[in-house]
Amino acid sequence: MRFDILTIFPQIFDSYLDQSILKRAQAKKLIEIHVHDIRKYSKQSHKKVDDIPYGGGAGMVMTPQPIYDAIKALKKVNKGRVIYFSPRGAVLTQQRAEKYAQELIKKPKTGFILLCGRYEGIDERIIEMLIDEEVSIGKYILTGGEIPAMTFVDCVSRLIPGVLGKEESHLNDSFSKALKRKKEYPIYTRPRVFKNKKVPDVLFSGNHKDIEQWKNQHLK
Ligand code: SAH
Repeated sequence: MRFDILTIFPQIFDSYLDQSILKRAQAKKLIEIHVHDIRKYSKQSHKKVDDIPYGGGAGMVMTPQPIYDAIKALKKVNKGRVIYFSPRGAVLTQQRAEKYAQELIKKPKTGFILLCGRYEGIDERIIEMLIDEEVSIGKYILTGGEIPAMTFVDCVSRLIPGVLGKEESHLNDSFSKALKRKKEYPIYTRPRVFKNKKVPDVLFSGNHKDIEQWKNQHLK
């Protein structure tokens, strides 16, 4: 399963995707992440990728040609859906992430093509011609689609079997479908006493029933 990310700022992804769990998942070939520079596809002079909006208005708009050529080229290697990150898209929730992950699990040969906007966004004709889905990561406006793309890759990837250390670890997450309760209980680790604050004794009782009951009583 592969994620092909289209951006005019490819370096943004370097450090995040090359650390920790996502790094290991790529090394184990559980996922592939490819970052592509939209600018490379530009046929305009100086590899221009933006222009002023027709009809006036503030800011610049990403021109259709480089994005069109980039998506067309990527569709040859990635048969998955094309997602454009946009504040007006459907908001990404854990439930939607599970749906995307299930799609990948069912068809491991597919993936997603992820388009990151910048400036005021992309020319509407690209949305009409090539975008299958618009996804928002929340009701606020960012300067670009790169953080949304990383969010998408991160939360979908960790639902792919083998990506997390223990297979069951994501089944206990807050909001997970697999969990009837919708909330998370408080968690603690060493030391047992920190700045005079103690970890609740019940967690050391070894009594799983009591511990489970305590967890249920302390959901947040
Ligand atoms: N003019 C636009 C905002 C553009 S923000 C408007 O008013 O709606 C620039 C780019 O950042 C967008 O093209 C999009 O790709 C990305 N972006 C910003 N906020 C986002 C969000 N909440 N979710 C997903 N993408 C977002």
